[in-house]
Amino acid sequence: MSDAQSPTDFDPVEPNTGHDFEPVDVFPDSNDFDLRPGADSCFKCSVCDTNCPVAEVDDDFPGPKFQGPEQWRLKQTDDDYEIDDSVMSCSNCMRCDNACPSGVPLSQMHNTARGEYVEEQMDKLSIEYVRNRILANYRTSATIASKVPGLANWGMNFGPARWLMEKTLGVTKEREFPEFASETFREWWTARGGADASRRNAQESRERMGLDRNADKKVAYFHGCYSNYNSPNVGQAMVRVFEHYGYEVVAPEQKCSGTPMFANGMLKDARRHAEVNVSSMSDLVDQGYDAIASCTSCSMALRQEYPELFDIEGIEKVASNTFESLEYLRIHEDIQEDIQETDVSGELAEEFAYHAPCHARNQGLERQSVELFRDLDGVGIEDVGESCSGISGTYGWKEEKYEKSMEIGEEMFEHMEHAEGDVGMTECPTCASQMEHGTGYEIRHPLELLEAALVK
Ligand code: SF4
Ligand code: SF4
Repeated sequence: MSDAQSPTDFDPVEPNTGHDFEPVDVFPDSNDFDLRPGADSCFKCSVCDTNCPVAEVDDDFPGPKFQGPEQWRLKQTDDDYEIDDSVMSCSNCMRCDNACPSGVPLSQMHNTARGEYVEEQMDKLSIEYVRNRILANYRTSATIASKVPGLANWGMNFGPARWLMEKTLGVTKEREFPEFASETFREWWTARGGADASRRNAQESRERMGLDRNADKKVAYFHGCYSNYNSPNVGQAMVRVFEHYGYEVVAPEQKCSGTPMFANGMLKDARRHAEVNVSSMSDLVDQGYDAIASCTSCSMALRQEYPELFDIEGIEKVASNTFESLEYLRIHEDIQEDIQETDVSGELAEEFAYHAPCHARNQGLERQSVELFRDLDGVGIEDVGESCSGISGTYGWKEEKYEKSMEIGEEMFEHMEHAEGDVGMTECPTCASQMEHGTGYEIRHPLELLEAALVK
């Protein structure tokens, strides 16, 4: 029980008389919208509202305090209360979680409310529902597109097709669709020899490092959709860097992390995907593997959103053994020292404008790339500030949100342009696409730079 609740244990009118009493079941057994401890902790300071990037640009959005604790109270006092449709404008950036001084589980409340709104109140035949479902299930479209990447890349970015998608589905025509790779990460992984090849490479590295050939260094890679279909180079860099440090890598069966589904209230879809991911990962955790993600939204989903929203067997075990890739190496290896002793030349010897994704902030990882790479000879790195990039996964793809998304991103674009050089860096693939869209810069992932520095 939280501190905020304990005063209710004391009744000044009828102090403890010692008589037996029947406890009243105020909150019957149900998980439906039952977030009372969190709601009670809210003391209405409005700090969450002042930290919400959407509330800053959207006058119709009432902000996280209303979406979370206030709406919860309304729901508890009125059985007929319907979730306000403004919950669909929350981008699930999760900045309000970090801002709240009272630990109110705001994003959990928003995700729960949004799921209930979509399930019970949204018209399943509406264009908005269909559009959101397509955007949320990016993995489905990407699976099909990656079978014919050349055609998909041409078709998705063909002007009249983009115009039609905006007119019929409400997907903005202002953005270029991300390119699909000619070879997915999983195709590359299989052709390379899968886990057997990784074990051999890891053993060679252990010998070089003077470690036991059979040292217990094993990680299970959660590559997610983007590293598989669009930027397999990030996944490849991740594998090579971890093997360099003597880790055996496996790439288990997996589906989408669920991040775009949470943001669109598609909790049934998210649960279906989460069940596969948790099942794969929990078996491997039992065998001594840790789960590693190269995308900060994927690691966020596995370690925070899954246990907050679902009760799947093994979920706590997976959550507590999931790490973001750089975070993991900084915990387990002398990576800072290694970086100080090496340098980078060639294509990646650049000045990087680094943006920390909101979901990296929520995991306390916003400084790791800057702290690591500022000691690397041959490159420069500058943090472009605390602002949100504005795209928040699918938010910036919605026609009616596009302008707001760009307005949120404006501060980041300006700081990028003031920074040295014209190459950006971030861990999040959708932030990367917004950075590129707003500045025209090429955007790299920290793992690519790590590979260039360490794996010669
Ligand atoms: S998750 Fe982000 S957009 Fe949603 S209410 Fe919180 S701060 Fe605002
Ligand atoms: S920051 Fe936390 S305590 Fe303050 S209004 Fe928001 S939810 Fe309530």
